[in-house]
Amino acid sequence: MKILFACSELYPLIKTGGLADVAYNLPLALSRLGHQVRIVLPAYRSLLNELGHLRAVVAFSTRIDGYRLSLLKINLENTAIPVYLIDCPELFDRSGGPYGEDREHGWPDNAKRFALFCRMVTLIAMDQADQSWQPDIVHCNDWHTGLVPLLLATAKPRPRTLFTIHNLAYQGLFDEEEFKALKLPEMVDGKRLWDYRAVEFYGQMSFMKAAIVFSDAVNTVSAGYAREVLTEQFGCGLEGLLQSIGPRFSGIANGIDNRLWDPGNDQLIDTVYGTSSLHRKVFNKLALQEAFFHARNSERLVLGVVSRLTPQKGFDLLLEALPLIMQMPVDILLLGSGDQKLEKAFKQAALKYPSRIEVKLGYDEKIAHLVIAGADALLIPSRYEPCGLTQMYAQRYGTIPVAQGVGGLADTIIDIPPFSEDIADATGVLFWQYSSSALVEALQRLEFVYSNRLLWRDLQRAGMCEDFSWESSAKEYAQLYKSLLVAQR
Ligand code: ADP
Repeated sequence: MKILFACSELYPLIKTGGLADVAYNLPLALSRLGHQVRIVLPAYRSLLNELGHLRAVVAFSTRIDGYRLSLLKINLENTAIPVYLIDCPELFDRSGGPYGEDREHGWPDNAKRFALFCRMVTLIAMDQADQSWQPDIVHCNDWHTGLVPLLLATAKPRPRTLFTIHNLAYQGLFDEEEFKALKLPEMVDGKRLWDYRAVEFYGQMSFMKAAIVFSDAVNTVSAGYAREVLTEQFGCGLEGLLQSIGPRFSGIANGIDNRLWDPGNDQLIDTVYGTSSLHRKVFNKLALQEAFFHARNSERLVLGVVSRLTPQKGFDLLLEALPLIMQMPVDILLLGSGDQKLEKAFKQAALKYPSRIEVKLGYDEKIAHLVIAGADALLIPSRYEPCGLTQMYAQRYGTIPVAQGVGGLADTIIDIPPFSEDIADATGVLFWQYSSSALVEALQRLEFVYSNRLLWRDLQRAGMCEDFSWESSAKEYAQLYKSLLVAQR
């Protein structure tokens, strides 16, 4: 099959979260299964800087709505997978992040930026941009690509469209004036666009809704989250629409990059190790302690955090629970960036509990590897989690995830039974209520297992033996694509 994968970030060129990892790994896994995949994303300034000496070829140029847009073509690093970069300096050549000046403020022209991006994706999809290559499937990801299914809805011959929701909370909402400025057709496929049954969402335009309404199929990134978003608690107002599309909506879990996240061959950590040399993991802990706590103590339980700091990730719970957690024999090392309020609160906590809490603000791949390898456990108290990657990295590294049992976290972590020595095939610790007391109780259960080294080893080994590779997810996606093509006939 020919698949065009449209996304707004792509590891290692531009990344703010797990979507970038998926955009790299899923196309790679699909091409290993024999499919022809091409990726398309905007040519942000930081991405072009990252490319540096690698010269991109201009494959096509056009003018839409007075903007000059060019299609640059490169290959995904170390692969033969073509990547299209939509270049438009007025829209994408600016300092700051892909979505805004910083994480808290979106660019004021985001509707225009991503609508034009979607228009260019549509041209590629209709074989009107690059030489004779029309995909069978256009796989769109998150709201930034949300207009593609709408724009393709009545095209002929039409590739099938799949829309993947990586996070339902970010919907691409814009006011009616911005909707009008996009000059979309009034009616599409018999539906009036400015209507609650199409793109209108409580008086605003929703890119996410447009995608859900007009795609041939919609999925999200774990079976657990797919069930949760059908409820009012997790559905962000779209639960009714998602319920109404019935079997057109499903969940397919993400995998992880087993080569990048391999404790047996990780160039970024102090000492490599595996299930048969698990005793060597402690050298990573000692190196981590030395680097951040300036003291080494192999006995001490080190809790790590590698995360965006946003309300979703539940770190208000950790802050609330800190006075109790600090009464336990544990230290915390946090690597994260995001909301200024949360960043400040953790900096203050580090001052309050010197040499017990260390905070490294920022985004740093190397430190992320050091923490995942060196910590004993990884804290993931997310309010909701579509899939989550770090709990899978952690398990691969014999680092025990401690997480709220939601979405993909509940799907990929097997909870230890409370205070029992019979831990069977458990791989982590889950708590089932979003409360600081539930988090503290989970940490007490963790400590109980940690105090019994044989049990702890069993827990580590069980996690390390789990298979989180992309191959099985890619097979599920291929199956879903195929079902869309069959349905068309
Ligand atoms: P989300 O996409 O919601 O941020 P995921 O768990 O799906 O959450 O993916 C997060 C990805 O970003 C992981 O690859 C994780 O290692 C990485 N990450 C998050 N914060 C940081 C950070 N501060 N430094 C380095 N990597 C980070």
